[in-house]
Amino acid sequence: MDIDRIKKIIEANFVQVKNLSGTSEEKPPIPYASWLDYWENYKGRKAKKCSALNCENDANVGAHVINTDSIDFNIYIVPLCYEHNNKSEESLFVVKKKDLVCIN
Ligand SMILES: [Zn+2]
Repeated sequence: MDIDRIKKIIEANFVQVKNLSGTSEEKPPIPYASWLDYWENYKGRKAKKCSALNCENDANVGAHVINTDSIDFNIYIVPLCYEHNNKSEESLFVVKKKDLVCIN
């Protein structure tokens, strides 16, 4: 497979995001115990792995992120490991597009 084709597949399936800081106090709607619980109920499946590209860690939290590929002013919940959830607002990373759940 050539590089252009690989790029196209990544663009179609992944999206660049960054963490939204100051969201640790944001509580999920009742009756959800956590944002990961909220995400799992919305999706109807368990969050197993971190959604970040090439990350093999387990999903630990439902993280608040924003899409930096297109500024759509939406906030999304995505399952991330602690390592990716702790990345600063300046660091951009790539997650699976189908894992984004919009909350606004
Ligand atoms: Zn990760």
